[in-house]
Amino acid sequence: MKILVINSGSSSIKYELFDMDQRRALSSGLAEKIGEPSSILTHQYLTARGDKKKIVEKAEITNHYQGLQRSVDLLMDPRHGVIGHRSEIAAVGHRVVHGGEFFQASTRIDDRVMAAIRQCIALAPLHNPANLMGIEVACKIFPKAAQVAVFDTAFHQSLPNYAYLYAIPVELYEKHKIRRYGFHGTSHAFVAEAAAAFLSRPLTQLNLITIHLGNGASMCAVRGGKSVDTSMGLTPLAGLPMGTRCGDIDPSILLILADRVNMSFGDLDKMLNKKSGLLGLCGVNDMREVIRKKQAGDKQAKIALEVYTYQVKKYIGAYCACLGHVDALVFTAGIGENSPVVRELCCRNLQALGIEIDDEKNHDSADGIRQISSRNSKVKVLVIPTNEELRIAQETQRVIGG
Ligand code: ADP
Repeated sequence: MKILVINSGSSSIKYELFDMDQRRALSSGLAEKIGEPSSILTHQYLTARGDKKKIVEKAEITNHYQGLQRSVDLLMDPRHGVIGHRSEIAAVGHRVVHGGEFFQASTRIDDRVMAAIRQCIALAPLHNPANLMGIEVACKIFPKAAQVAVFDTAFHQSLPNYAYLYAIPVELYEKHKIRRYGFHGTSHAFVAEAAAAFLSRPLTQLNLITIHLGNGASMCAVRGGKSVDTSMGLTPLAGLPMGTRCGDIDPSILLILADRVNMSFGDLDKMLNKKSGLLGLCGVNDMREVIRKKQAGDKQAKIALEVYTYQVKKYIGAYCACLGHVDALVFTAGIGENSPVVRELCCRNLQALGIEIDDEKNHDSADGIRQISSRNSKVKVLVIPTNEELRIAQETQRVIGG
């Protein structure tokens, strides 16, 4: 069975085509700067011999329909295509950022589902309209394929109310659905399942802390396969400091800046989302650069790394308290998978919580799932590469009963 996964942004479409029988990606790509003269389509595919090849097309893509159509043409191109006809694609899985309280799981898309995703636009004004656009164009291009929505928020719908309610007037929740939702659900769910398989234990019997450190960053306390707390909130701005996002701050900072420094709503939005995090603290948002600068003696880079890893460590402590007993910590995503320095700082001096990293294993740069905790560590520490696109494809297959 072949499943196409689509992640549609406001000016981009990311796609990946999976052969589910072989559990591998046949092709992936990105159409970006849609609507601008400088649009770029980058398309990667596997040759019959299994080599990876890349095609880059620079020509204006006027809208999402054209972007997806062009990508599908490349998937079927007789010279280097990976499918003969679009009807080979049984289903399209869509990443949808916000499912509000409507969706506890992935679901087949129909008019009612579209209407509910539309209702969640107020909660994710930048993401949900773009996701809807992706669904609409995919329905036109693949009228016979099943369309499935996989939500970033769905995995966290199991949070108890004391973990998702903010201590603000309860009418704001009742009338406006202001509450913690959490994001990166596909990644937390994917690595939790992979951890259970790696440890050869049923997921229902495991307590895990999953730590997704990419450009965005979030953590999740997972009890028996269900999310019971997570660091992101109503939006993906809360929780850990990130590449350019601030994470948790005192909410009064905004009031003070608006009042005393005359910052507008737009200025505040830009400052919190685009100018904060690692970038705000030391001038660069790429963790590799931060580490390079720190090693070259840059004091701001050193403090940025300390602020970043201190917050992860604090959440580890909080989630140990929340879960009571922890079987494993799981590091994932760009930074979590690739940076021994960050992992070491996040777990330093946590022996009292039963967490200890083995220095040699931590620095082993092997690919794939690995255990980096010491023999004495009661809590296993794992590094597990995430694969959100594969998870969306698996969910899509599950929903259509394939
Ligand atoms: P996204 O959230 O966009 O999917 P990724 O999961 O790809 O992001 O993570 C991107 C982050 O991973 C960047 O900050 C990048 O610096 C970091 N990263 C990638 N490789 C390394 C590495 N070897 N050491 C430290 N950080 C790394």
